[in-house]
Amino acid sequence: MDFDTPLAEAWIRAIAAAVEKEQARLTELDSAIGDGDHGSNLQRGFAAALAALDGLPPTGPGAVLTKTGTTLISKVGGASGPLYGKAFRAIGAALPEPAGPAALAEALSAGLDAIRALGKAQPGDKTIVDAWTPALAAFRTAAATGATLPQAAAAAADAADQGARDTTPLQARKGRASYLGERSIGHQDPGATSTALIFRTLADITTP
Ligand code: ADP
Ligand code: MG
Repeated sequence: MDFDTPLAEAWIRAIAAAVEKEQARLTELDSAIGDGDHGSNLQRGFAAALAALDGLPPTGPGAVLTKTGTTLISKVGGASGPLYGKAFRAIGAALPEPAGPAALAEALSAGLDAIRALGKAQPGDKTIVDAWTPALAAFRTAAATGATLPQAAAAAADAADQGARDTTPLQARKGRASYLGERSIGHQDPGATSTALIFRTLADITTP
């Protein structure tokens, strides 16, 4: 299985559905250590991304993700809009057509580079980076050892879930949650949680 245009569109559709379903939970997490808008930010952003896909000529999986990124940047005001927006644009720009597991791993790596270039967060700062980094490592290791796309995506999703859970004891050093200092400890990071959703949907849509 390759990551082609139908799969790219299915991924964005699945993220939009997952974010819709988990909107309340993401908002609850963001209410504890932020301003309570992470669920609505992503719901609005991915609903707009879906609408944008309808008007897109079929030009490859990279174009689907690039368009998604541009839409997220323009529609989401919170920190997560530009971060996810730049990530999807970078994944789109790095993606050959069609992409096998190894090529998708490199594109996901370009996505993480974009997040880190913009947000300057290190692993352990209690952000999106804390789920994306282990997810990428798991995806890459799987791809390098001959895993199929569904296998690599499942490994990445599990690692992202673990990474998101592991943000709970951390003190936030980036974003709004950092204003809370030690009071940010004991809560799972909303952005790391939405990153885990994004990787879980990739596993779900590729699993036969
Ligand atoms: P805002 O914080 O502007 O309200 P959101 O609520 O949509 O935006 O997103 C909050 C999430 O964004 C946080 O939980 C965190 O994971 C992520 N985030 C914030 N700042 C950064 C950063 N500099 N680098 C990576 N992720 C970040
Ligand atoms: Mg917020």
